[in-house]
Amino acid sequence: MAAISDRPEHCEGFWNETITQECSFCGRPSTAFWTGKSGTIEVCPKCAETVLVSLIVDSIRSPEYRTTVERLLEKVRTRFWYALADRLAKIVQIAPKESELTQD
Ligand SMILES: [Zn+2]
Repeated sequence: MAAISDRPEHCEGFWNETITQECSFCGRPSTAFWTGKSGTIEVCPKCAETVLVSLIVDSIRSPEYRTTVERLLEKVRTRFWYALADRLAKIVQIAPKESELTQD
């Protein structure tokens, strides 16, 4: 997943980002996107915690459903922390340096 600030046209900074795209699911302003083979999916924070979670669960196709769900939940938890660390690292990289914040 990529945040809007990852787009080249939105490189003003993480908190000053301009949101111009609509969520693919509800039409509210999008804050993240993912580009796949068939196009780009835009998502807002609300749909990320509702629609995307439901989509993950709906994607499960296994005769051993319970075991698969437990394994998937563990992978989602692990992936969440990796994604958060990646996002925080990107924020630190684009944040103004202390010397840039100092005014004369
Ligand atoms: Zn939405």
